[in-house]
Amino acid sequence: MSEVQQTKSVSVEEGETLVKVNDLKTYYGEGGLIDSNPVKAVDGVSLDIKRGETLGLVGESGCGKSTLGRTLIQLENATSGEVLFDGTDVTELSGAELKNWRRNSQMVFQDPESSLNDRMTVGEIIREPLDVHDWKTPRERREHVRELLDVVGLRPEHYYRYPHQFSGGQRQRIGIARALALEPEFIVLDEPVSALDVSVQAQILNLLEDLQDEFGLTYLFIAHDLSVVRHICDRVAVMYLGHIMELGDAEELFENPKNPYTISLLSAIPEPDPTSDRERITLRGTPPSPRDPPKGCPFSTRCPMKIRPEEFEDVDVDLWVAIEVFREVVRERSRAERSATDQLKEMLGMETRFSDIGEIRQELFGGLNVPRNIEKHIEETAGYIENNDDQQAREYLRDVFGSICDTDEPDDFVVSDTGRFSHCHRHLDEYEEPDEFTPYTMR
Ligand code: ADP
Ligand code: MG
Repeated sequence: MSEVQQTKSVSVEEGETLVKVNDLKTYYGEGGLIDSNPVKAVDGVSLDIKRGETLGLVGESGCGKSTLGRTLIQLENATSGEVLFDGTDVTELSGAELKNWRRNSQMVFQDPESSLNDRMTVGEIIREPLDVHDWKTPRERREHVRELLDVVGLRPEHYYRYPHQFSGGQRQRIGIARALALEPEFIVLDEPVSALDVSVQAQILNLLEDLQDEFGLTYLFIAHDLSVVRHICDRVAVMYLGHIMELGDAEELFENPKNPYTISLLSAIPEPDPTSDRERITLRGTPPSPRDPPKGCPFSTRCPMKIRPEEFEDVDVDLWVAIEVFREVVRERSRAERSATDQLKEMLGMETRFSDIGEIRQELFGGLNVPRNIEKHIEETAGYIENNDDQQAREYLRDVFGSICDTDEPDDFVVSDTGRFSHCHRHLDEYEEPDEFTPYTMR
C-alpha cells in the first residue's frame, strides 16, 4: 500500500470505484396476476461510481432514474445483474448482512412534504435510523442528533418541533440530516431540490456540496434540471427507457454530446448565447412504453439520427418522416388493448376505432409523392391492419423499413479519451455520423 493511501483523510483517491453496476435489470409486475408484460424500468444498466464523486443521472420522467437509484441501495429488488459495493454484490445480501450494509447507503427523497412522518418530532425522525440499528447509547444518539441538526443548518430547539412547522427547504435539511445519521458513504439524492423554490434550491445544493467535502460522500444525483446537474456533478449518465445512453465527464458531455439522445435533450435547453446557431431538435411523440420497448436501440423510434436502410437512403425527408410516423401509429395500435365493446363490434363486423387505416394513410401520405417501391409496402401493411393483424403489420414494417437501429441493441462505444461512452450504432465506422440531423418531426 502506498504512503498516500495510509494517510487518513477524507480527500479521495482519484478514480477508485465504490459502486460497480453490471447489467442491472429491475422489472415491475413480473409473475403478476394479469398476463401482461413486466414494466422494464431498468433494463440492462452497467456503470461505475467513483469514490467521492457526484454522478448525475438525468432523463425524462419515467425513464427509470428513481428505480435505478432505489435498486442500488436495495430499496427495490433487482430482477437480475449485480450491484457491487467494494466488491460485494449487495443484491445477494439478506437478513442481518443486508441490515448491516444498509447503514452505508442512504437516500434523500424528492418530496420533503411526504417523506417525513408528520407525527414524529424532528429529533425522533433523525434519530430513528440510529434506534433501528441500535447505534451506541441512547444518550450518544441524542447527542449525535444535535450535532446533525447543526451540520445541516438547523437549530438545537428544532429537536422537539414537528415537520409541518417547517418550510420546504428546512424539511429537506431534516431529510438530509436523517440520511447522514448512520454516517453512510453513499447517498442517492433523488431530485432533492425539484420541489423547492428556486431561491432555496441553491442553499440546499451548497449544503450538499459542503457535506460531501466534509464527510467524503459519494453521490448519485438524480435530476431532470440539466443546468443543476452541470453545476454540481463530476460525471453525468443520461438515461432513456431503462438504458444508459451516454455517460462521462459532465463538462465534456455538455460541451460536446455524442449520443443522439443527449444531443436532443441538450438542444431543448434555452441557449445562454443568443448568437449561437445551434439547431434545436424537437423530438417526435413520447417515449415508448417500458412494457413494450422497441427491439434494437431503445431510442430508435424517435431518433433524429436513425440509420436508414441503404435502399431508402435517398428518400425525401418528408416522406421518410411520414413512414416513421406510420410505423409509430401501427406500433401503438398493436399494443393498444381493445375494449370489450370494440371486440364485440369487431365480431359483429361493425366499424371500430381500429378500422380507420384509410384515414391514417390519407393523413400521412395524402400530400406526398409516394414512389411505387414504397407504396406497395404501405399497401401490404394496410392489408394486415384491415385483417386486424396489427402485430404482423408492425413486424412487416420493421422488416422493410428498419435498419440495424431497429434490430440490434447498440454497444457502448468509448467516444473520448476520458472514457466517456455512448450507446449508439452511429459510432460504428460504417455508419459514421451524418453531416446534419434529419428533423424527424411532422411539418
Ligand atoms: P423516473 O424516476 O425516471 O421518473 P421511475 O423509476 O419512477 O422513473 O419509473 C420507471 C418506470 O417504472 C415508469 O414506467 C413507472 O411507471 C414504472 N414504475 C415505477 N415504480 C413502479 C412500481 N412500484 N410498480 C410498477 N411500475 C412502476
Ligand atoms: Mg423519479
